[in-house]
Amino acid sequence: MPKKKAMEPALFSSLLPDAPAPPAAPARRRVSVLLPMPFAGPFDYAAPPNMPLNPGDVVVVPLGRRRETGVVWEPNPNLPADFAPPPQRTVEAARLRPVAELLDLPPLSAELRHFIDWVAAYTLTPPGMVLAMTLRLHMRGVPTPSMGWVLAEDRPDTVRLTPARQKVLDLLQDGTARTTTDIANAANVGPGVVKGLADAKALKAVKLGPERPFAAPNPHHNLPVLEGEQATATVALRNTVAEGQFSVTLLEGVTGSGKTEIYLEAIAACLEQGKQALVLLPEIALSAQWMQRFTRRFGTEPAIWHSEIGQRARRLTWHAAANGSATVVVGARSALFLPFNNLGLIIVDEEHESLFKQEEGVIYNARDMAVVRARLSGFPIALVSATPSLETLANVEAGRYRHLILPSRHGGASLPETRILDMRDHPPPRGLFLSPALTEQLSATFERQEQAMLFLNRRGYAPLTLCRACGHRMECPHCTAWLVEHRAKKMLSCHYCDHTEPMPPTCPTCGAEESLTAIGPGIERITEEAKNLFPDARILVMASDTLGGPAATAEAVAKISRREVDLVIGTQIVAKGWHFPHLTLVGIVDADLGLGGGDLRAGERTIQLLHQVAGRAGRASTPGRVLLQSYTPEHPVMQALVSGDFDAFMAQEAAQRRPGFWPPYGRLAALIISAEDAKEADATAADLGRTAPYGEGIQVLGPAPAPIAVLRNRHRRRILLRTWRTIAVQPILRRWLSMVKPGKGARIDIDIDPVSFL
Ligand code: ADP
Ligand code: ZN
Repeated sequence: MPKKKAMEPALFSSLLPDAPAPPAAPARRRVSVLLPMPFAGPFDYAAPPNMPLNPGDVVVVPLGRRRETGVVWEPNPNLPADFAPPPQRTVEAARLRPVAELLDLPPLSAELRHFIDWVAAYTLTPPGMVLAMTLRLHMRGVPTPSMGWVLAEDRPDTVRLTPARQKVLDLLQDGTARTTTDIANAANVGPGVVKGLADAKALKAVKLGPERPFAAPNPHHNLPVLEGEQATATVALRNTVAEGQFSVTLLEGVTGSGKTEIYLEAIAACLEQGKQALVLLPEIALSAQWMQRFTRRFGTEPAIWHSEIGQRARRLTWHAAANGSATVVVGARSALFLPFNNLGLIIVDEEHESLFKQEEGVIYNARDMAVVRARLSGFPIALVSATPSLETLANVEAGRYRHLILPSRHGGASLPETRILDMRDHPPPRGLFLSPALTEQLSATFERQEQAMLFLNRRGYAPLTLCRACGHRMECPHCTAWLVEHRAKKMLSCHYCDHTEPMPPTCPTCGAEESLTAIGPGIERITEEAKNLFPDARILVMASDTLGGPAATAEAVAKISRREVDLVIGTQIVAKGWHFPHLTLVGIVDADLGLGGGDLRAGERTIQLLHQVAGRAGRASTPGRVLLQSYTPEHPVMQALVSGDFDAFMAQEAAQRRPGFWPPYGRLAALIISAEDAKEADATAADLGRTAPYGEGIQVLGPAPAPIAVLRNRHRRRILLRTWRTIAVQPILRRWLSMVKPGKGARIDIDIDPVSFL
């Protein structure tokens, strides 16, 4: 009998469906039901004779004394044997409890169910937890229909026609019913125009059924003019979509080369085939500019999916994905688990972004799982980036992925000229952080009435607060981390947990007064410095914690585009694909910042981020310029940023990772052992160490304290399992975990293909 998987949360054995069943009718049909909970697999129930149940049906079943929503499941024939979860214990037919209710929801397709099984097996997560991502997304119930407008059959002759009114009439020509808001947005008029037309009886009110909450993006709405390299890439990508088979294409092109423009054409091709398309963006909440472009191209907004859209919108989108009325969904990583009924294309924009990795709950990489979803369902997927990950490049090299390249910027805009400011030769004044060489360039830029940007990937005022008298460092009481000063809020806060505390007036250790000193810069401090240097400049600060929401972000971006800002100071949020036509100078305050620590991808990530930031400069006709403040100008990352030879840098990265079979040339899984009691964490880690697998092509590193040894009061230890590419880590991990029982209060989290090593 297979042992239970050690990583499973304390099995809810009291909840198992084992209460005696009511007297059974003969030959009860058995169905498996997967519940969105951390059990090892589905449970068996009896199908009531009057209830026709099929795999994928959403049902309510008794569980202990509760009722839970689950999905009728069946074994997945596509899972490799050593991937499949261990068999469940079988309950005798007579003891089975009946399914209570069949819900009026669209059944989950076999494709989606197989995908859920696959993700669960690959990430070593109980399948119910993956199902939870699909089910939790919508919640029960069908949304109430709201009202929309179509053209009235006979328009009274008395209706006065203005250009704005004409735009609305043109839009509604296609017969699609739309809400007032949708019409106003798509026709670019105020809602009053719609109301005026309605009052004049030129429009007819109709009930919008739940099946048609989204206007259909029109692939023929506003065609771009594509020439040269762009045209070639577009034809290739359109053909790939037309093939309608599984394939992965890397669309690589420098920032501003028109990648977005081109993948919108792939979406158009998908829509022409009557299929749905999904676009995954790393940070959808920030993408106001992206929405505008989509609307310009297709005449209406896509369905949006992310964590902040609200209950009603979630439900609407869930149902619209399921019934096919949402033809394009743009979303953050969890959109991958929506129940599309006819998905024909996935685009992963900024595929190299580590934000696609979910680090909590089900630990998965949405980019990689998107490829899996495309493969299981047999449709094409495109990965898009100016700086593709080494994983993706290796797949191109191995011939598994196709490759389309756009080598130059659209419309003749040139790539920014990049220079290093060697801070050893051009040091900033004492206690400050901007080199005089950079501030000179800033003045010159402002004099020319152009915009500049300063980038520092660190929120707050200073990353460390130190007592000059006794050397005490202000640390988080719950984490191994320094507290970051946020001076505007007069607070110290931990960037790893929610802890914040007021800045103390005296040193908490020695009581010295006015001895607490800020060490190092965050963007608040850089802003202070810039204000002193340029009192007349209009400065705008962009950081996730100070901007406050998507609407405010959109407004900030609009202000920059309208030229109401001279200097933008920001964290990584400024790197996100924005198009700022007047921006000509980018100053990177600390180019070395990401290179410290032993992270496998530190160099790769730094070059991706800095390249992306640099790419904001000179996107229109005036050429841009980038200055990197660095104390290590000889570092290969700095050299590659100057030469722009990203390929050479990645080739060098590849050469370094290949011999040690580091990813992508080998496989990696991390085990993170955590407990509130350090001894329990150590004991469980030691047990794992003792039972560690061995063999040719298998290596175990650790256990060792995690770099963040305490996080939210939990002590953490890490183990890395590294294998040859030819060896699957999942069966090894399953066997290993079955031999170890975590100590009391200890937990083992499995992170397949880890991105973070903290
Ligand atoms: P990328 O996604 O590669 O950074 P974008 O697609 O954002 O590039 O294109 C950069 C800018 O150039 C955008 O403002 C875009 O609208 C414009 N652009 C790109 N290609 C074309 C084209 N063929 N016609 C008109 N504008 C284009
Ligand atoms: Zn903390």
